[in-house]
Amino acid sequence: MGKSHNISQPPQELLEAADFILRGGIGAVPTETVYGLAANALNPSAVRRIFEAKGRPFIDPLIVHVSDMEMARAAAHFTPEALKLAEHFWPGPFTLVLKRKDAIPDIVSAGLDTVALRMPSHPMTRALINACSVPIAAPSANPFGYISPTLAEHVREQLGNKIDFILDGGPCKCGVESTILMATCEPMKLLRAGPIAPAEIERVLGRPIDKNPKKNEAHPEAPGMLKSHYSPRSKLSLFDLPEEIPEAFKGEIIFLKRPEHPRKNEYWLSESGDEAEMAHNLFALLRSLDKFAKNGIYCQRPRADGIGLAVLDRLTRAKNS
Ligand code: AMP
Ligand code: MG
Repeated sequence: MGKSHNISQPPQELLEAADFILRGGIGAVPTETVYGLAANALNPSAVRRIFEAKGRPFIDPLIVHVSDMEMARAAAHFTPEALKLAEHFWPGPFTLVLKRKDAIPDIVSAGLDTVALRMPSHPMTRALINACSVPIAAPSANPFGYISPTLAEHVREQLGNKIDFILDGGPCKCGVESTILMATCEPMKLLRAGPIAPAEIERVLGRPIDKNPKKNEAHPEAPGMLKSHYSPRSKLSLFDLPEEIPEAFKGEIIFLKRPEHPRKNEYWLSESGDEAEMAHNLFALLRSLDKFAKNGIYCQRPRADGIGLAVLDRLTRAKNS
């Protein structure tokens, strides 16, 4: 072990994964947001395999993950402001949409002239990208439309037989996908809420961003931001106050924080109401309830603030009743 304090995987497994990537393979990688399904971003046929394994429509562009700024600059054009944001938030759960350079194939960005870029902080995936020396394209490692994976086990259950490797880096720290900012327009636009709050971005930028771009306006720019996404198979409804849950409801109930005297069908996203903890637990809890919740799930809405905004966004998309 000795040498790899931050990496719970034996280095041999990492080298094998890098070899798969360089030979056009695909595999699951841990990040601080959710598990990604990775391929060499510079190899169109490898990237095609990602879409096929997920059943993802080709109009939905992928995020390209880099391990240093040199790699980032080879993929996209950085304005001074974009550079400032990257320097502040990277490595971390923050994705910048920038003008694409020719090195990035059309299939990665669904033919758009932009590319979504991020430098993840998870040491195992950073090490993998370094070992490959190529950027990796990686959407979440789940079948299209289902809940994103936050454990290696989630990936194994659903995609295990369709992919070449799974690197297990433990539970994902944030638990929801990255914040996406489109930096090619004026003002810059929040395309997806995530762990980095819009107020933090505005503070670094020193000016406002569009926090609520109109859906039809955002559509061509963020084709993946479909209204329904992340959905469990069980019927999912949302509530603010427990009184809103019909008396006859026999299913599972998720509270934001631990109820004082929880009943058998009651669960919680955090012990004390901490929003980062809610995000961390959200997808894993939905997945485990989805295995048996025949009578449906009611989940309490978080406040639309900070990372709570990302949790609310995912729940609103997941809601299917
Ligand atoms: P995922 O990889 O599933 O977390 O989703 C990536 C999302 O990033 C896509 O669904 C798009 O909404 C967004 N995205 C990726 N590339 C671009 C781009 N070039 N322009 C705008 N949005 C993008
Ligand atoms: Mg996804």
